[in-house]
Amino acid sequence: MCGIVSYIGSREARSILLEGLKQLEYRGYDSAGLAIRQGNHIELYRAVGKIVELEKKIAGKEVKGTIGIAHTRWATHGEPTEENAHPHRDQNDDVFLIHNGIIENYLSLKKWMEKDGIVFRSQTDTEVLAQLIAINFEGDLSEAVRKAMSQVEGTFGLAVIHKNVPDEIVIARRGSPLIIGVSDHGYFAASDVSAMVRHTNKVVHLKDNELATLTAGGFSISTAQAIPIERDAETVEWRAEDAELNGFPHFMLKEIFEQPETIQNAMRGRLEPGEGVPKLGGIMPVWENIKECRHLVIVACGTSYYAGCVGRYVFEKLTEIDMEVELASEFRYRKLNFPPNTFILALSQSGETADTLAAIREAKRKGASLLGIVNVVGSSISRETEAGVYNHAGPEIGVASTKIFTSQLTILTLLALLLGRHQKLSLTEGVEAIRALQLLPDQVRAVLSQDNHIRAIAEKYHKRSNWLFLGRKFNYPIAMEGALKLKEVSYIHAEGYAAGEMKHGPIALINPDMPTVAIAPMDDMYDKMISNINEIKSRKGPIIAIATQGDEKVKELSDEIIEIPPTLDYLYPILAVIPCQLLAYHCANLLKRDIDKPRNLAKSVTVE
Ligand code: GLU
Repeated sequence: MCGIVSYIGSREARSILLEGLKQLEYRGYDSAGLAIRQGNHIELYRAVGKIVELEKKIAGKEVKGTIGIAHTRWATHGEPTEENAHPHRDQNDDVFLIHNGIIENYLSLKKWMEKDGIVFRSQTDTEVLAQLIAINFEGDLSEAVRKAMSQVEGTFGLAVIHKNVPDEIVIARRGSPLIIGVSDHGYFAASDVSAMVRHTNKVVHLKDNELATLTAGGFSISTAQAIPIERDAETVEWRAEDAELNGFPHFMLKEIFEQPETIQNAMRGRLEPGEGVPKLGGIMPVWENIKECRHLVIVACGTSYYAGCVGRYVFEKLTEIDMEVELASEFRYRKLNFPPNTFILALSQSGETADTLAAIREAKRKGASLLGIVNVVGSSISRETEAGVYNHAGPEIGVASTKIFTSQLTILTLLALLLGRHQKLSLTEGVEAIRALQLLPDQVRAVLSQDNHIRAIAEKYHKRSNWLFLGRKFNYPIAMEGALKLKEVSYIHAEGYAAGEMKHGPIALINPDMPTVAIAPMDDMYDKMISNINEIKSRKGPIIAIATQGDEKVKELSDEIIEIPPTLDYLYPILAVIPCQLLAYHCANLLKRDIDKPRNLAKSVTVE
């Protein structure tokens, strides 16, 4: 999620804030805004699109205040419009607030406020927070924020000013990063150091459930329970590029390491452990039809297509639905003939993928109902589908998709489980699934902790010019995705095959120079995968196995082994893809490729 920068001091806030916003641009955003105190009132400027659009709005205006808050928004709730851009206000224009994160209980709070006659001007979750602080305000802004913190669920980094509190900015955090910057002309609050790099390298980190009051002369930190905290500033040694990447050398690696969080975000507020049924509010508009759905077609391109291929197996296991998965670029040219109550599910990170858009438009013409799983709120696919689920995974900057893939798999599983619980699954099966889903973020962390080991494997094999990836059933698409990842970022030729196809051709390629990545967790395909591994070994092909922790049999057969924790058979793909991503990354890095912008590729493919 996106960027915050605020300033209170002796200089004019306008240029400091605009410059800070520009430093935050790398994070990806869809709109921007700022609020600056001018004497007794607060000036608000917001614009859709890039910071230059915001600059155009302010150009020629007399904005001279020295206190202000500014934001780049990456929409999660409500489309990227000017009304939905931050800062948000309460209905009386007293409170002005910027927020990163998601207020999970915003709907119930909003309903309660609307009953009391409070008027809302945006579709965001954030506006609820502004109204709540205004309701709680009795003269002390930090007390009002503290009270609001106890009423909201979810994640936030926020900065707020109040019309009647002329010399304070109050900031608070839970889950989203926020730091205070100490300069010789004033104080900053920002979501990362890059926003204030030109002014200071002295920072104080705010921790979860803390808030702070900034004035032109200092700052004070306290806990949500009003216990004061003393914390000294630290000096950070860094370059702007480092901060952008939070210490990671590439966005791809950063995003691979974000997966425990993004998988968690895909499930946040969506699990009902007791009932064994997920809650997916975005699907409710079509609930009456979809719960009876017997035919679902997933359409997507590239990595999203492979997520769809895993989805097919998961839906077939958990529901009664007949499944198809289609490459969007092919699907639209087929003779489409759908049985009644067919749903088309489009998967796209950007929500703008041209082929996928064209495919759903064609399907609609032929009478199908449309669903989407997209990451970018308000994108074309989110607007053109009747219902859907957002990834809430934050911007993905690396061209090779990683965190969105596992987020898509998580959401596909939630959707299959939701429908399956209405079609055939018992309460026990539902509860078991949710328990296993809840373990995933920590299990992904366990896989990521083997990064050094995986890098060592890449060191050994990165000069081999042909690789094979094999898997079966749930992990057959992981073999294809593993091969795609390697191709995309390292330019090594790789093939992903269903292991059962080995004997029908690819086995002819096996020799001591061609490594095979065998995805062989302990699922119902295990014995068959062992046979395939034996066949490769007999032909002296090097084997890099991805296997369940403690599997001695696979270990003995393989040259290298990467272990993943045990889980349910249909959740293994989420764990098994992580070593494939890291192998691709490290090979590309050793080969000195331009990892975040591989040659000939674009992040969001908006042409057919
Ligand atoms: N949930 C908020 C919104 O949609 C904040 C998004 C962000 O972090 O940029 O407006």
